[in-house]
Amino acid sequence: MRFEIVATAFDAIEKTTKRLDMTTQMAALLKETPASDARIVIYLTQGRLAPPYENIETGMGEKFVVQAIAKAAGYSKEEVDKRFKKTGDLGETAFELLSKKKQQALVMQTLSVKKVHENFMKLAKTTGEGTQDLKIKLLAELLNFSTPTEAKFIIRFALGSLRLGVGDPTIMDSMARVHLEEFKKMHPAIVKAIQEDKKHEKKEEEELERKIQLKLREQIEAKYNIHSDLGHIAELLAEKGLKGLDAIEMEPGVPIRPTLAERLPSSEEIVEKIGKCAVEAKYDGFRVQIHKHGKNVSIFSRNQENMTDMFPEIVLAAQEQLDAEKCIVEGEALAYNEKLQEFYPFQVTIQRKRKYDIDEKAKELPLKLFLFDCLLIDKKNLMPLPFEERRAHLKKLITSGDTIEMTKSIITDKPKEIDKFFNENVSSGLEGIMCKDLKAPYIAGGRKYAWIKFKRSYKGELQDTVDLAILGYFKGKGKRTEFGLGGLLCGVYDEDADEFKSISKIGTGFSEQMLADLDALLSKHVVKHKPVRVDSEFEPQIWVEPIYVIEVRADEITQSPMHTAGRNKEGVGYALRFPRILKLREDKKGDECTTVKEIITMYENQKKVKIEDSQ
Ligand code: AMP
Repeated sequence: MRFEIVATAFDAIEKTTKRLDMTTQMAALLKETPASDARIVIYLTQGRLAPPYENIETGMGEKFVVQAIAKAAGYSKEEVDKRFKKTGDLGETAFELLSKKKQQALVMQTLSVKKVHENFMKLAKTTGEGTQDLKIKLLAELLNFSTPTEAKFIIRFALGSLRLGVGDPTIMDSMARVHLEEFKKMHPAIVKAIQEDKKHEKKEEEELERKIQLKLREQIEAKYNIHSDLGHIAELLAEKGLKGLDAIEMEPGVPIRPTLAERLPSSEEIVEKIGKCAVEAKYDGFRVQIHKHGKNVSIFSRNQENMTDMFPEIVLAAQEQLDAEKCIVEGEALAYNEKLQEFYPFQVTIQRKRKYDIDEKAKELPLKLFLFDCLLIDKKNLMPLPFEERRAHLKKLITSGDTIEMTKSIITDKPKEIDKFFNENVSSGLEGIMCKDLKAPYIAGGRKYAWIKFKRSYKGELQDTVDLAILGYFKGKGKRTEFGLGGLLCGVYDEDADEFKSISKIGTGFSEQMLADLDALLSKHVVKHKPVRVDSEFEPQIWVEPIYVIEVRADEITQSPMHTAGRNKEGVGYALRFPRILKLREDKKGDECTTVKEIITMYENQKKVKIEDSQ
């Protein structure tokens, strides 16, 4: 397929302001894409070259991109720089300069999607000293063949700043849109049930279509949850239609999307909700998913990043201590102080997340891994089994050794015993506890009260911290202007609307280092207008793509007419009182922040605690 089709679609997507339109544009692009290019088109839309767990970096420095534009457009570097200063966007600069050149050129070779991907893959694999010239050549070659619009997106892609705003939910919606008619033919019973559902009696045709599409989207998402590679799913759909979904299974080496925890404010409510449960220590480290296939071991983070090279001692321990040819297990890894026989806090464990000096740090801060779940052993998919059975399998799987053990846990239906276990754990420096429904299957990519977290509680203060997506920032005053960042506009995620709703402006808790780090990170993701998936009435001075998450503590959740989070018909939403930033949650992507539903539950729980306190 010609890359021009993709670039033209991206251009239209970039100009849309509504998510529905974005889905329509994306569906049109997918329809036009042959199966052999489907995978690449999805990765390019996501701003990547491969699924996230393959760790293939696309980023290229501005300086080299300027040189490639100069080479392809026939201008000097200084001239390109001068124009760049005016537009502030090298993509626009490339568009402008190539428009001038192309008016004069007579012959134009077309660029294919495959060629673009091929050159970027070569670029990504070219590393080390003295490779700049080759990189510039590879990029300039693409520009030589490209139209101005193609050039704009090639340059943004090279800089890692595509900013289309098409999230994974939108991609899945557009896949469902493309295969809607086929789904209706395959599942007349589902269609009939939706049409006959009394709730929809007076609904428009369009609304019914949307409901049917949602059913299909759920089926696609269920596959994505166990095989987190949308490129692979798109390819199978394009090749085989909906039957292609049947071929998608769990596979060692491809991460499964993690199950998530709910919150409740007291042990009594936990027992009321899930009855007799497993209560486990909650360790504050990295969540890891370990995939073992023979001697091959891969380690994935909570958001499907490949961390295998960072933790050599865990790779070794998985080879020695997991007694199966093939398995997928999950746990929390954290640094352990052998001398004092205690865990290090998260701030110390995080030092193990690095690309250099890995072996030295591994000696200085060795990790312990506490396993809490088991999803696959040899050919057996354990995900549908109740938690207590999965845990029995896990226990048999682990052989003795120094690095891997099971999480500490008790089974009880007595709130007093839960509280006692909670206090023991908190006083030994852990974060709190996790209560798990003994009968629940593993819910990939979802919550549904299979797990309930219960952290150190601060009466009078908000029970737990919240994780907020950064939507934009305000410039600072005084000393803070040095960093270009004074405060943040933050939001929570509304799963139903697939939108970020504003909940708080945050100006306290930042150290100078944190300000500088955030400024460096956010400045790479600045967007000119409010992103399509953001709903906020506050206008920060600078909007950013909602991809970074920070952990925030606040005194309480209050109702507020100013913010859009959870806003009801009367126009009242939720806000945070006295919010202060604790840290950047590097392990979470934008839409993995706290949800609107969680905020509402926390608000309700907070009311209950207040009533109990005053009794
Ligand atoms: P939070 O990140 O605060 O939503 O809490 C959920 C996280 O707690 C999980 O993603 C794990 O990284 C971590 N965790 C620590 N101990 C456990 C445990 N015993 N069971 C499940 N998750 C745990």
